[in-house]
Amino acid sequence: MKDRNILDTVIEFEKQIEAMQQQFGAFKQFIALMMEEQQALQTENLHLRTRLEEVIAQQPTVEKNSAAPDVGEGYDNLARLYYEGYHVCHVHFGSTRKDEDCLFCLAFLNKQNG
Ligand SMILES: [Zn+2]
Repeated sequence: MKDRNILDTVIEFEKQIEAMQQQFGAFKQFIALMMEEQQALQTENLHLRTRLEEVIAQQPTVEKNSAAPDVGEGYDNLARLYYEGYHVCHVHFGSTRKDEDCLFCLAFLNKQNG
């Protein structure tokens, strides 16, 4: 009778370990998802930071009258951002396009290029 109790205890313990393994698996998936999301946010943040620095650098200043405005490079950067999946239009600037073309962006890029 005592042995029977021990066996029950061992079986119960095994069930608990299995349940914990399942929970741990779900937890690992959650961590992986969070890491992926963090990576995406870091990438987006980097793009936005780069773009912000470009915008600041391109601000017309009275003192900066020697260099001609580099329109081509500014356009290239915006076009690159757009094709990397970000809005460059004033309406949604900096947000992801989710693989959809944006008429505002296209019109804006067209105007910049022309
Ligand atoms: Zn857009």
